[in-house]
Amino acid sequence: NRQILLAQRPNGLPDQSTYSFVETEIPSLEPNEVLVKAQYLSVDPYMRGKMSDAKSYTAPFELNKPLQGGVVGTVIESKHTKFNPGDTVTGLLDWADYTAIDGNQIRKIDPNRAPITTALYVTGMPGLTAYFGLLNIGQPKEGETVVVSGAAGAVGMIVGQIAKIKGCRVVGIAGSDEKNAYLTEELGFDAAINYKTTDNIRKALKEACPNGIDVYFDNVGGEISDAVFSLLNFHARIALCGQIAHYNDTQIEMGPRFLGNFLKRSVLLKGFIVSDYADQYREGVSDLAKWLSEGKIKYKENIVEGLENAPDAFLGLFRGDNLGKQLVKIS
Ligand code: NDP
Repeated sequence: NRQILLAQRPNGLPDQSTYSFVETEIPSLEPNEVLVKAQYLSVDPYMRGKMSDAKSYTAPFELNKPLQGGVVGTVIESKHTKFNPGDTVTGLLDWADYTAIDGNQIRKIDPNRAPITTALYVTGMPGLTAYFGLLNIGQPKEGETVVVSGAAGAVGMIVGQIAKIKGCRVVGIAGSDEKNAYLTEELGFDAAINYKTTDNIRKALKEACPNGIDVYFDNVGGEISDAVFSLLNFHARIALCGQIAHYNDTQIEMGPRFLGNFLKRSVLLKGFIVSDYADQYREGVSDLAKWLSEGKIKYKENIVEGLENAPDAFLGLFRGDNLGKQLVKIS
């Protein structure tokens, strides 16, 4: 049983010294536990926060213990009445081939209903993040302009498509022409801006948003957000979802200095964590699954093969390797 442990807490961008690889016995089961063999593992930006021991909304990963994340896997053995060998399940499991886990902490998924990886994406945590943040905070109305940063990533591409379903003009900001072509040609975004090659993001945004910006779904922060903030309309709403441009900062940046703009334009800015909306999970999953089955939501996955490549797949999130959801297939 291969496991990937947190060997040391990173200072800045993690590297291979952040992780260690060990071989252990396959765990034996306590009462109510289930042995799950991982098939797909999700790597997510929030894991960077858990590698640090700074106080946050969830406990940090423990040193010399396996990292953990969203996994879809197969039940190999069960001491829990709800699960049988062969069941497909999902939950927060170890970065390992096998995890023994309390059956109350995982849930069954039906492999005949949708591809099993959608439990880690469209109908899982990233899809729900897009759904709750955009609809509860952004409150997009028909004809309004919605801008999303990190637009070609897991959360971002779902945000844009939900905004299209709601009848909005949708402008994405992402880091490559290939990503942007996918957003406009395949997903129906009205415009997309490559922040890496555009000299003036504000000017490009102004052209793409002739009626200003009513909703900003922020996944990244930094200079991209500075540009968006200067173009917000009266009563604009900002769903503050992520700040990936800052996750590896070693010094805290001061600011933003745009609060005067927010005041003068009666802007609402609200940070959120997907679990804030736990009471709406059922409704969110149901809408997302419906849109998926109707073809109103499409998605891409970027799949890296091999558990041993999970640390680099995680780092790829900061390089922008992924179009859509970054997953690791455990061979
Ligand atoms: P993504 O699939 O979007 O992957 C991360 C993407 O971020 C990369 O592909 C890259 O795309 C972009 N990126 C990386 N570094 C930078 C940078 N310095 N500046 C601008 N863009 C950058 O990840 P997720 O969809 O899983 O997550 C998106 C955001 O949402 C993250 O900030 C994450 O922390 C947050 N999040 C928040 C949740 C919540 O509950 N609030 C829940 C889930 C996610 P590109 O090529 O465009 O640079």
